[in-house]
Amino acid sequence: MRIGLYPGTFDPVTLGHTDIIQRAMALVDRLVIGVAINRDKGPLFSLEERVAMVKAEAGAILARTGGEIVVHPFENLLIDCARDVGATIILRGLRAVADFEYEFQMVGMNRAMDSSIETVFLMADARRQAIASKLVKEIARLGGDVSKFVPPPVCTALTAKYA
Ligand code: ADP
Repeated sequence: MRIGLYPGTFDPVTLGHTDIIQRAMALVDRLVIGVAINRDKGPLFSLEERVAMVKAEAGAILARTGGEIVVHPFENLLIDCARDVGATIILRGLRAVADFEYEFQMVGMNRAMDSSIETVFLMADARRQAIASKLVKEIARLGGDVSKFVPPPVCTALTAKYA
């Protein structure tokens, strides 16, 4: 049984995230989506809202891929979260070169803490590579159309937040 952990803030979940989740399902038997509480980042959506949105998308993906997805809020160290859920791989998405420096350091430090957990990077389809939660929120806040970047329920939630 191969268990993978895909951690993130998911504030909110985008079509970039769902692309990575779908790809990850081809690599693992159980995918644990770790929703970081991340109080420091001052998320727009509460943990409960973010978890609910991720769960809804996970359900839709599962109907296509099969397998198992668990949505798991966490606040502790990523490597401890991976151990808690029995994951042997951590999955991360890579967008631009800008992501690389930070991810490179994370891998090095996580590996020093636990060399038995491997980090695997995935890239979204070219049309979804540029999508970032931060920019989606900025566009929605200014009244722009984000329907190309997020699933329909998230689009509705963003409109309601900024109404
Ligand atoms: P974090 O706070 O950990 O960066 P995010 O929710 O922003 O959380 O992202 C979670 C993961 O999803 C990260 O590995 C990020 O690189 C990846 N990701 C987000 N958007 C995309 C995208 N459009 N294409 C590929 N990976 C993405």
